[in-house]
Amino acid sequence: MNKYRLRYAPSPTGFLHIGNTRTALMSYMFAKHYNGDFIVRIEDTDMARNVEGAIESQFDNLNWIGIIPDESIYNPGNEKYGKYMQSQKFDVYAKYANKLVNEKKAYKCFCTSEDLEKDYEEQTAKGIVATKYNGKCSNLSDQEVDQLISEGKEFLIRFRVPENESWTINDIVRGEVVFDAKDLGDFVILKTNGIATYNFAVVIDDYDMEITHVVRGEEHISNTPRQMMIFDALGWEYPIFCHLTLIVDDTGKKLSKRSGNSLFFIEQYRKQGYLPEAMFNYIALLGWSPKGEKEILSKEELIDMFDENRFSKSPSTFDMVKMKWINSQYMKKMSDEDYLVFIKQFIDQTKYDISNKETNWLNTMLMLFKKEIEFGNQINDHLDLFFNDITLTEESQQQLKELEGHIDLINIFESKINGLSDWNVDQIKEVIKTSGIEADVKGKNLFMPIRIYASKSEHGPSLADVIWLLGKNQVLKNIQTVKG
Ligand code: GLU
Repeated sequence: MNKYRLRYAPSPTGFLHIGNTRTALMSYMFAKHYNGDFIVRIEDTDMARNVEGAIESQFDNLNWIGIIPDESIYNPGNEKYGKYMQSQKFDVYAKYANKLVNEKKAYKCFCTSEDLEKDYEEQTAKGIVATKYNGKCSNLSDQEVDQLISEGKEFLIRFRVPENESWTINDIVRGEVVFDAKDLGDFVILKTNGIATYNFAVVIDDYDMEITHVVRGEEHISNTPRQMMIFDALGWEYPIFCHLTLIVDDTGKKLSKRSGNSLFFIEQYRKQGYLPEAMFNYIALLGWSPKGEKEILSKEELIDMFDENRFSKSPSTFDMVKMKWINSQYMKKMSDEDYLVFIKQFIDQTKYDISNKETNWLNTMLMLFKKEIEFGNQINDHLDLFFNDITLTEESQQQLKELEGHIDLINIFESKINGLSDWNVDQIKEVIKTSGIEADVKGKNLFMPIRIYASKSEHGPSLADVIWLLGKNQVLKNIQTVKG
């Protein structure tokens, strides 16, 4: 077989989201597993729906996540593959449309949208379910066509769906799917403005680019028979089709920007402090799974293990909890240096001013949370303790009341802390220990009162570290405040 060539073909009507990333990623893994090419082509035939900045943003986010095209508008391949943006190929599509008209495989249609509406109404009135074009212009003679054009009538070009035929997709995911001609009306391939429709342009591009496998979402499956008939009409071979099942949210609905518990756009994950490797890993497991139990897999491992026979036949649920868990696994695996550089970008400096903090202090503080947080932004849930003058919560006050012997303990602890000449974690640990012995308390009765008095909070990482980070003055001040 020829070199595998797969493509991701976004319309620049929006930004990169979980759904289209999954399509791109599966195409990418598929191509790379077989040492093939991965192509990104822009399908911008629907000019009115194009969104400013969408193309740049798509590439930027693909690149971030590690889905790197071998060919695209930025690095086109051999000239024979044609342009990588449909708006630059309108003349090519028009040429093929006219060829099909000459061969009577397509025809010019002069029906206006009002005509079509009227036809549909008439048919519906007769009880016919009107979903198809009624073929009114399909048998106009050349003279009639010329006549209408000379009268200045607008036309579009429709593909003539062959009668009494059927098309069988041998889909990698779904197996055989059969479509019958009687269910498919003659469809538009070139609009009145001379611009090709998606179903027409896509076939010409897939042929020009020598695409071997078409991987896309299942919402495209009903387009596939139309594309197959165009391949047939032009005498070209079909690529192999692979329609991925839906991604649904935790309510079972198709994942969208309205899905409550899940973020939808890649950009949102980036801003929240998810790692690209973790996202690649998680999205690769949406509707596909490798052999074995292992779930934390690098891009290289995933490409290596890729198997097109392991696509899921049922919808896959986007699971935010799992996404976070996978991300936390990647965060734990980072080197401390990388973690510190990464995490500092996410500190909300309008709330937590780190500009005058000593590097060693800052790094020690941030390291306390490396194993705890699931994504970058979560660091901000832990910083109040060290930056803001927090007030003791009612829960903490209540806790204190229930803890035995804390008044004695705190007096002992306070004077020992006051007397410390060296401010280091080992000394602080020693102070906590000896305070416990002298006050005759241990366990929760030892640690909780000290934590609450020293930090004004019942939550936080390792106690001696917290005390060291707060510094002697702050700790003594806090004790005074809590004593009231
Ligand atoms: N431009 C289409 C879309 O955005 C891609 C369809 C295809 O892959 O054939 O969904």
